[in-house]
Amino acid sequence: MATAPSRDTDETSVVVTAPSSEEESSLERTTALPLTEMPTAAQEDIEFEPAPVSHKIIMAFAVVLPFIGCIAAIVHLWQYGLVNWLYIGMLVGGWVLTGMGITIGFHRMLTHRSFETIGLIRGFWMAMGTLAVEGSPLVWCAVHRKHHQCSDHEGDPHSPHLHGKGWWRGVKGFVHAHTGWLFTGFWCKIDLKRYVPDLVDDDLLRLVDRYYYLCVAMSLAIPAVLGGLITMTWYGALLGFIWGGLARIFVTHHVTWSINSICHIFGGREFKSGDDSRNNLIFGIFAHGEGWHNNHHAFPTSARHGLRWWQFDSSWIVIRTMQLVGLAWDVRLPSKEAMLKKRHNAQSTAITEE
Ligand SMILES: [Zn+2]
Ligand SMILES: [Zn+2]
Repeated sequence: MATAPSRDTDETSVVVTAPSSEEESSLERTTALPLTEMPTAAQEDIEFEPAPVSHKIIMAFAVVLPFIGCIAAIVHLWQYGLVNWLYIGMLVGGWVLTGMGITIGFHRMLTHRSFETIGLIRGFWMAMGTLAVEGSPLVWCAVHRKHHQCSDHEGDPHSPHLHGKGWWRGVKGFVHAHTGWLFTGFWCKIDLKRYVPDLVDDDLLRLVDRYYYLCVAMSLAIPAVLGGLITMTWYGALLGFIWGGLARIFVTHHVTWSINSICHIFGGREFKSGDDSRNNLIFGIFAHGEGWHNNHHAFPTSARHGLRWWQFDSSWIVIRTMQLVGLAWDVRLPSKEAMLKKRHNAQSTAITEE
């Protein structure tokens, strides 16, 4: 596989990808912008590239339909209680599987190349990520690399800090980082050749990109068919569609988007990362380890985001297990030295690594 470029010549920042084997010992170079302590908040709104109306309509459906499905599931629960664990299982199981498809597959495996695996496993995590309905893997990875490249500075697709100071601008920034950015040109006009040159020639990824909307339909059809077949009723199919389809997509979406919004505002900052990324315990748990977001921005190619023993990171547990049974290799972790160097207080207690 071709190696992604390590630096764009016309920008001051670095595209975040996996280092070559010679670079393994230090993840320093994979940091986003030069290590300023904190980004300066914009005084006014930064202009975002507009998206065509057709794109905005599609995004409106992608945001509103899962929300309606979630309301329907809550109403169903309110009316009938936990009548059937099948649908709760579909919601929770689907969320864990497709959520990890994003965190392990799209994020750590494809975007940052933090580990290598066999083709079958790669295809599995990619498929799970695609069923999360967060965009095709090529677009997702490209947007995310741009996020690291410009994190919390102009050009970042979903920073909450680019709308200026004051509480109202803060609210606008939060909304933009959570869902608003989906309606801008960042999503539909991302330059794939520039941001994912190592992925655009992958036949499978191109195929998924081309038939992405078929994957979206499958993401809704699979739980409906399962619900229908298991109960042998149309009502079961409808509940499968609502619980395992729409409501599950709603949960997965908002957990992922919270990393962009909440984890750039609320939480602790252990490492210098050149942005305002935060470590957030709640999303460390619910986002399968992605809530240790300050750790991640400090060491983007690390397969492990929860760097301390108590920072629960379920995606890392899965990757580590795959490594132990020989299904993952070249698993990248930051060295102790690199972590000490980036700590805000380098004099305090040493970091315990594994
Ligand atoms: Zn971030
Ligand atoms: Zn990342």
